[in-house]
Amino acid sequence: MDDSYRRIPLWSNVSPEDWEDWHWQLRNRIYTVDQLRQVIDLTPDEEEACAKKQGRLVMAIPPYWAALMDPKDPNCPIRRQGVPRMEEFNIQPHDMRDPCGEDTDMPVPGLVHRYPDRVLFLVTEQCAMYCRHCTRRRLVGENHGLMSAYEGTFEYLRKHTEVRDVLISGGDPLMMTDVRLGQVLARLREIPHLEFIRIGSRTPVTMPQRVTPEFCAVLKKYKPIWMSLHFCHPKEVSPRVKQAMDMLADSGVPLGSQTVLLSGVNDNPETMKKLMHELLKVRVRPYYIYQCDMAQGITHFRTAVDKGLEIMQSLRGHTSGYAVPTYVVDGPGGGGKIPLSPNYVV
Ligand SMILES: *Cc1c(COP(=O)(O)O)cnc(C)c1O
Ligand code: SF4
Repeated sequence: MDDSYRRIPLWSNVSPEDWEDWHWQLRNRIYTVDQLRQVIDLTPDEEEACAKKQGRLVMAIPPYWAALMDPKDPNCPIRRQGVPRMEEFNIQPHDMRDPCGEDTDMPVPGLVHRYPDRVLFLVTEQCAMYCRHCTRRRLVGENHGLMSAYEGTFEYLRKHTEVRDVLISGGDPLMMTDVRLGQVLARLREIPHLEFIRIGSRTPVTMPQRVTPEFCAVLKKYKPIWMSLHFCHPKEVSPRVKQAMDMLADSGVPLGSQTVLLSGVNDNPETMKKLMHELLKVRVRPYYIYQCDMAQGITHFRTAVDKGLEIMQSLRGHTSGYAVPTYVVDGPGGGGKIPLSPNYVV
């Protein structure tokens, strides 16, 4: 077992059993500047942003993710996705609280029904890590009680026979216990017209310890369950994550990945192509690349659409078709996903 985390003084005495226990990982997430300072050399900007908690998304970094960060380089892609910067407090007039207009398409709290045949079921407001680029930052990290009662959702789904596809998301559904998640899946499986169930989760990437044999058994029990993961950088496909992907794929779970195009993290053709290749190697099919949307406090992550088009151009025809996802922008205010593609007719 890899115990290189022990080089970090904060965790030098942690046993491999604890490190591999996802409850330990959750309990020991980094919330404070003082803890973070023991893992990386903070820049003055990071230091200020971490200390200033009001007005930004919560910081919580699982030890697994923190150990993957470059302690010296503030531009490390792993670090940029987990550690706040003062730029997050920069809110532009055109930024939106609910950039994809999800709140207006909620017939029941926690259920987004925008497309006729498929729904987004937000089951929790918690995540293993809070990504600095999160677009659902209005919902996650705090308990608004929005998703505490699912009965309304089950009832709505029973009545709406046109719905055939349920995407279980949040927050992160893997923050639920296996028992609780199993109960949700069981209830959905009772509804005969729901033929396609998928779980959207970033936890296998930010805290792969969550993927246990027990969790895989739940997915198998209610099969077929698909999973949509969220990968942004090739460095995320670590040996430990590969293990988790193997367990999921060996359990018969089809895996896809959604990637957000992030300035300074993955907005160049080489990084993006490398990520797509790393994903295929661990049996994850690249599904979408998202244009970073208009959520508040993520201006510094946004790129020009041309950048995304250039990346798509570098993929299509230059690598395996399976390594080419669809580039989409989520229409501001609820237009839904709009695919963008370069003009190939040359
Ligand atoms: C993305 C999304 C879905 C699922 O869309 P697919 O293109 O089928 O993956 C469903 N509902 C909402 C509101 C979404 O944003
Ligand atoms: S895991 Fe997803 S929902 Fe949670 S903070 Fe990251 S991007 Fe947002």
